[in-house]
Amino acid sequence: MKDKDTVDMLLKEKRLKTFKKWPYGEDSKLNKEAMAAAGFYFIGSKSNPDLVRCFLCFKELDGWEEEDDPWLDFLVQSAACINFGRMTMKERGEEVPLLPLGAAEQVEGPRQVLL
Ligand SMILES: [Zn+2]
Repeated sequence: MKDKDTVDMLLKEKRLKTFKKWPYGEDSKLNKEAMAAAGFYFIGSKSNPDLVRCFLCFKELDGWEEEDDPWLDFLVQSAACINFGRMTMKERGEEVPLLPLGAAEQVEGPRQVLL
């Protein structure tokens, strides 16, 4: 798959559209709506079916598990980015999910893909 224009991915609506072959369903915590809201867009392939990228810091994450939470897990990986992301999302009037305090210490995130 060719990389999407990342400028395009500033909009949650656009990010949401990339999750065409996303392996998690609507009833999963990892539903595409939640992923897009957390700032991710889908860049996966056959060999990497759950690979996503953050539109702000370009970190790529895969190896998601059903019980993962896109917000919490990314916070573990990139606290600064998610804070910035939440701020900019708020400015654009997007709905920003709240993180429970101290939750980040309790989760093991998906592994970060080394470039
Ligand atoms: Zn990021």
